[in-house]
Amino acid sequence: MMEERTMAAARMYGRNEIRIERVPIPVPGEGEILVKVASAAICGTDVRMITYGSAGIDESHPRILGHELAGTIAEIGPGVKGYRTGQRVAVAPNMGCGICDTCVKGNGHLCPDYKALGINLDGGFAQYCLIPREAVRGGNVCLLEDGVSFDEAAVNEPLSCVYNGFEQARIHPGDLVLVVGAGPIGLMHCALALMAGAVVFLNDLSMERLAEAKKLYPAIRLIAGDLKEGLMSGTRGKGADVVITACPVPAVQSQALELAALGGRIIFFGGIAAEKEPVPINTNLIHYKQLLVSGTTRASLIQYRRTLAFISEGVLDVKSMITAHFPLEQFPIALEKAHKGEGLKNVIVFE
Ligand SMILES: [Zn+2]
Ligand SMILES: [Zn+2]
Repeated sequence: MMEERTMAAARMYGRNEIRIERVPIPVPGEGEILVKVASAAICGTDVRMITYGSAGIDESHPRILGHELAGTIAEIGPGVKGYRTGQRVAVAPNMGCGICDTCVKGNGHLCPDYKALGINLDGGFAQYCLIPREAVRGGNVCLLEDGVSFDEAAVNEPLSCVYNGFEQARIHPGDLVLVVGAGPIGLMHCALALMAGAVVFLNDLSMERLAEAKKLYPAIRLIAGDLKEGLMSGTRGKGADVVITACPVPAVQSQALELAALGGRIIFFGGIAAEKEPVPINTNLIHYKQLLVSGTTRASLIQYRRTLAFISEGVLDVKSMITAHFPLEQFPIALEKAHKGEGLKNVIVFE
């Protein structure tokens, strides 16, 4: 009898139902790669999926979550070119069909047939993760420079999504930028805006989070208490050239139009829970203030590679955003921490 190859995995079976169990290690088929996971970071999306449940995941269809992952190539399926075992890699989770106009344009993350590791395919909260053919062929498996740690590479995924929003916001030096939400996503927005030479204002309901943010980025101007009052007094009544909502709060989206300066740009970055749709917006503010209102979701592969280069070139530090490590067995504890918004990025690490 052949020895069964198994691995430890955190599998979701439905709402608030995570089980740490042993499952077979996937065998890479034609064009596929098996990655031995080293680091997988917990994201707000994981918390949301587990708290509210996720379509297609139930008692008979369990899934391994985790879309922010990095590791080492353990095995290579037949026909894979350009990779070898032992290479250290970061894996971009999103993949499109590869042949529709959206994919050909480089926006596979918006493809109607979009799939993603840790969302609708098994992801990184396990010792091994199978990278499907579309992702391998699409270039999702990105080689790491020697100086880039697995932790940093895992956290590059949310950074790439933030960078997508950043590109849309077209921030110029001297722009007054308001970020609402001081979680890891909000702080990454702050980091990129500072890099671009903006004056950055940050608001959050939690004084603790604001204080932590100020420690990381002393140049940030904090707005505690009434947001509109604080912003207007900090901008001589002008408002913000760019408003980025990095929180899932409908009222903040509505208010963003009031907070924007004339000719301002607004990025709705954080999604809103389906039961809170639609969010009321005063379109006259868009009209009379000549605002540009936009949103972004996920990231393209080139954006993922671009931010990975930010990390390897040392122009942007994400190490300081990783505030806790946990072994897989402690996944529920790590999840709870992420749920409560304690610290910034919680990373599951494997030996
Ligand atoms: Zn994420
Ligand atoms: Zn496509």
